[in-house]
Amino acid sequence: MVSDIRTESLKILETIPNSYLIVSASLHIITASNKFLEATATTREFLKGKHIFEAFPDNPDLPDVDGMKNINSSLQEVLRTKEPHYMNIQRYDVPDLQYPGKFITRYWEPSHTPVLNAAGEIDYIIQHANNITDKVLRLSELAESRKLELNALKKIELLNLELDVLRISELEHFKNEKHFRRLMDLVPAKISNALPSGEVTYFNKHWLEYSGMSFENLIDYGYQKMMHQDEVEPFTTGLAEAAKSGIPFESEMRFKDLSGKYRWHLNIAAPVLNDEGKMIMWVGSTTDIQKFKDEEQTKNDFIGMVSHELKTPLTSLKAYLQLAVLKARDTTGDQITKNALEKSLIQISKTTNMVNGFMSMSRLENSKIIIEPSAFVVSQLMGEIEEDFKNTTSSHPLIIKNSDVEKMITADKNRVEQVLKNLIGNAVKYSPRGAAIECSYFYTENEITFLVKDSGDGIAIEDQGKIFERYYRIENNISKTTAGFGIGLYFCSEVIKRHKGRIWVESNLGNGSTFCFTIPINITLV
Ligand code: ADP
Repeated sequence: MVSDIRTESLKILETIPNSYLIVSASLHIITASNKFLEATATTREFLKGKHIFEAFPDNPDLPDVDGMKNINSSLQEVLRTKEPHYMNIQRYDVPDLQYPGKFITRYWEPSHTPVLNAAGEIDYIIQHANNITDKVLRLSELAESRKLELNALKKIELLNLELDVLRISELEHFKNEKHFRRLMDLVPAKISNALPSGEVTYFNKHWLEYSGMSFENLIDYGYQKMMHQDEVEPFTTGLAEAAKSGIPFESEMRFKDLSGKYRWHLNIAAPVLNDEGKMIMWVGSTTDIQKFKDEEQTKNDFIGMVSHELKTPLTSLKAYLQLAVLKARDTTGDQITKNALEKSLIQISKTTNMVNGFMSMSRLENSKIIIEPSAFVVSQLMGEIEEDFKNTTSSHPLIIKNSDVEKMITADKNRVEQVLKNLIGNAVKYSPRGAAIECSYFYTENEITFLVKDSGDGIAIEDQGKIFERYYRIENNISKTTAGFGIGLYFCSEVIKRHKGRIWVESNLGNGSTFCFTIPINITLV
């Protein structure tokens, strides 16, 4: 009777549309509801009599899964307490009977309810295995898509942030650019920017005002067209050197204003290098120096005029003195007068040289010095220089060393003589009394090189390039006590430049100096 009731009850359980598995107290499967069989894709025949964990082992592909362990603990709890036990959601895959070895994903919400017999012992246990796989998978899909959504949102946020950063930096750039332009317009110089190729990208307000053109027109017209023709070639060469060396190119140049008149400017073209030392642009600064040029011109004209006016009386004075000296030498007059006359002649010669220097300088500045070549023999020129030296200088011996071979050269004899006299004069000024001065020359293929050697104090390396600049004098005790205006070597370098030659000094402090210059043997062929 009892067993009939049990069989009847189990029959009912099999058909109730819920997922039930019925196991004995030894955990062997008695039966299962149709819903359970459906959810586990098994058959009642397959399950009946099997131990629950033989029928439902853990999925070996999921190493972390603990379904079997948890179900077993719940069943043990029920066996011990004889009370129902409810479990949390469990992942407990079921074997796929169609594909042996494979498992079907399953999530359950299990509970175990003991059914006791008349003696109060567990007759069987009903496992209510609520299959919530679909719900869990849907939820996890949702979670996944939510995650994706969140990631997408995060990405959008990041993109927005990047956009903001870009906008800010663009704004900063714009502000900097505006600031730069405003600053460049305040500077009282003409400022320009160009690409390394030379293509101008920016002219400040002063350039536009000076040229009377818009930026576009000025670009079209061309920066070089504003330059004086004489300066285009040296400017291009200077620029190429600056690009190579990275050192700014500085030059005095004329630029045409809006009325077509040229004005002098100090032009600095500076290459801008990046951290790797590669040129990224040119910055040009062009300052109007016409006012200084005009003042210089006035000063120059004055010097020219004064020295010209002084030259005539000085020449007569020198002639009278020479006559007086000659007369005094022949007579037996008193020695003091004789000496005074001789010394006066020396001083007059010095003054004449100085005045000649000023005149040459002013003519040079007014571009009035032109080279007038003539053919001459150098040894003859040396003889004249020696003669003149003896008549005017007694403080130092001059040694002239003529070349073994003699050639006729074609150059401006007077100017070459002036240069040599200047160098010999300096050797006298800047070396101790009695120290010999040596003047020599030698020929190379198409050139002749002159050397003037002294045993004075020498010139420091840092001054050697500068002494050829106008008005440059080295500041030391000797120059303080020696008369001079710093124009002699400038004059020499200009004369040599006009001969298409080179001038330089070889010297060490304390070891004397040798001034050298080289000119073509025949200037008319250059
Ligand atoms: P100045 O002699 O009138 O000062 P220069 O142009 O002839 O001008 O020379 C420029 C400077 O170069 C001189 O002031 C002097 O300091 C230096 N200098 C020129 N020649 C010599 C020399 N032979 N030895 C040493 N210093 C020299």
